[in-house]
Amino acid sequence: MTKVYKFGGASVKNAEGVRNLERIVRMALDDQMSNDKCQMSNDKCQMSNGLMVVVSAMGKTTNALERVLDFLDSGKEEQALSQWVDIMDYHVAIMKELGLKPGVDIRLQGEIPYDPSLPYDENYDQIVSTGELLSTQIIAVYLLKQGLPVEWWNMPKLLRTDDTWREAKVDDAVSRELISSGWNRPDRPRIVVAQGFIGGTADGKRTTLGREGSDYTAALMGNYLNAESVTIWKDVPGILNADPRIEPDTVLIPSLRYQDAVELAYSGAQVIHPKSIRPLQNKQIPLLVKPFGDPEAEGSRIAEDGVGPIDVPVYIWRKNQILITMRAKDFSFVLEESLSEIFDIIHRHRLKVSLIQSSAVTISVCVDNSRFVADAIDALSAHFNVSYNDHLSLLTIRGTTPEILEHAKDGRTIMLSQTTRRTARLVVKEK
Ligand code: ASP
Ligand code: MG
Repeated sequence: MTKVYKFGGASVKNAEGVRNLERIVRMALDDQMSNDKCQMSNDKCQMSNGLMVVVSAMGKTTNALERVLDFLDSGKEEQALSQWVDIMDYHVAIMKELGLKPGVDIRLQGEIPYDPSLPYDENYDQIVSTGELLSTQIIAVYLLKQGLPVEWWNMPKLLRTDDTWREAKVDDAVSRELISSGWNRPDRPRIVVAQGFIGGTADGKRTTLGREGSDYTAALMGNYLNAESVTIWKDVPGILNADPRIEPDTVLIPSLRYQDAVELAYSGAQVIHPKSIRPLQNKQIPLLVKPFGDPEAEGSRIAEDGVGPIDVPVYIWRKNQILITMRAKDFSFVLEESLSEIFDIIHRHRLKVSLIQSSAVTISVCVDNSRFVADAIDALSAHFNVSYNDHLSLLTIRGTTPEILEHAKDGRTIMLSQTTRRTARLVVKEK
């Protein structure tokens, strides 16, 4: 059967990570071969086997590429170039450590793919997508040199999207056809290495699916290839009830239902991308989250028959939030009429809303802070008196109790809180 493995940036941030990926891929391959009861002559059986490896950009490359564009966008060409050179040097160092020859084994993109006549968002996709193109080439060539049967796939030609730059919408029908026919080719090697997060338009432009979108790619692959499972390899033991970097005592949630996973993801849990559940649920494909440092560990399993509801309190931090409050200019605040205006502006600036609260005369929205917020605030200021607070975090506690809530509030400046019987959401000042 087909398996989909997804490796995030942290798991391939250096040569050691790539060697670890090789080890994990070999384990899967050995497993498949030994279970392979099929005869080589039985085409159908043989073709249905394989490992689809979806990879993100290495380490913090995506952030670094965003900086390249921001420098260019603000006319700082020298800084852009030096950041770009740093990114290339970082990859060259990994290649060398893996025994690969830069420029011979792997083609390096010399020039920054930037066209000042194009909109920011379109340039974003051309520049930022190079992170995944580099990581997958390095990994594919390395695995090949280690004697593994590997093919590199160029997702901008296979995952068809529209041209909603930075958040492209996937055309499922076309992508499914392209990807499954590539997969069903009789001469396809057993392992395919493909980029997460990126796709392409019908006229050949590269697109991206939104930050952290590689999980979503892996889920789509699982759906298109009717995989037996999709595994996300992470730097944590699985899905935990809290971020171990923040909470000292975390517990692993070994089994979850899709519906609970979706809720966690939408609250901002970093482990899974919100869009990655639906393609899997549609085909009842389990999603496994496993530690790349300990591949034999059980990790967490998300499936229809998972255990639910989750029976431990879950803490989800969403950092770098900004709380924007709008007040009517003439006190004739009519919420119903203002809402569509507000959300239209928010939508046009692609802000990600994490919480909404309204009173008789105000409406507050908590959004992920980004370089687009300032423009949105300008646009909102044309209609409302706008104030904002930044350097905030949103803490969501699922399965809370009054005691847990009190404890969570202790010593923190609470800007806003929303609580239901079992869920608390606190907007707090970052310390
Ligand atoms: N490299 C992309 C990002 O950092 C996609 C991903 O990691 O899922 O957002
Ligand atoms: Mg990444």
